[in-house]
Amino acid sequence: MPELPEVQATVDGLKRRVVGRKIKDIWADWPKVLKDPLDQSKIKHNHIAWARKFLRNEKIISMGRRAKNVLVYLSNKKVILIHQKMTGHLLVGKWRVKNNKVTPISPRSAVNDPWNGYIRLVFYLSDGNMIGFSDLRRFGKIVLGSKEEIENLPEIKNLGPEPLDKSFMFGDFRAVLRNQKRKIKPVLMDPGVIAGIGNIYSDEILWRARVSPKTNSNKLSEQDLKNIFSSMKFVLEKAVKLRGTSISDYRKPDGKEGGYAPVRLVYGREGEPCKRCKAKIVREKIAGRSAHYCPKCQKI
Ligand SMILES: [Zn+2]
Repeated sequence: MPELPEVQATVDGLKRRVVGRKIKDIWADWPKVLKDPLDQSKIKHNHIAWARKFLRNEKIISMGRRAKNVLVYLSNKKVILIHQKMTGHLLVGKWRVKNNKVTPISPRSAVNDPWNGYIRLVFYLSDGNMIGFSDLRRFGKIVLGSKEEIENLPEIKNLGPEPLDKSFMFGDFRAVLRNQKRKIKPVLMDPGVIAGIGNIYSDEILWRARVSPKTNSNKLSEQDLKNIFSSMKFVLEKAVKLRGTSISDYRKPDGKEGGYAPVRLVYGREGEPCKRCKAKIVREKIAGRSAHYCPKCQKI
């Protein structure tokens, strides 16, 4: 699932290409993807007509990110919230849609890379370009609402702080983690505690901090907390700079892979030697998620 660095790369990549354009039309092959903020469980009757009425001729004023959500700000105080969930990613390019069959035209990676070939929804823009949503497993969702409705969604309102915010200081971080009795890995991954960290970066952060993912959060020493905090900033900043991790489906809006996977420290490296002590990296289920860690140099 795209995490903070991948979603940030998506927003940055889209911003350059789509801000200032108007949305002319929308196509989707899957009605459930379009959600009404007041009742997300309900499938809209005539969903395309509803979305078309909402979007048509609205200008894209700006774009942003909150946790793993892409936010597209439109004229008339309207907002599109896009959660890419498990396998979704947004691309800018051109596609031909005929009889619900999508043929990619550009960019080249949309044509050649099979991970870019699951286009389920297209926004048509005023400059002839399009935003395409490729989503193999169709878990992604797009909520159309007023700024107020989107800001009041529980999934936005109940989010914890952004880990890369300059105002999120060590004191706040320590206070939050000391209050949690769960293991540190699920705590870092809880969006209500800290927003935007998932399976990949929680593993990377804990390896760099030399802390076992199984340590109880409220038992962490002052030094452990400092190490996790600085590792969190370091790892996420590095991954944002490298535009995210493309181990399977994630791609940048130009359809190309992010640059973090080749430099990753521990995630997906089970059975390989630890980059610090050469012990074998293990993979283990912790609170329902698979954690990768070094049993020798990551201490409880
Ligand atoms: Zn090690």
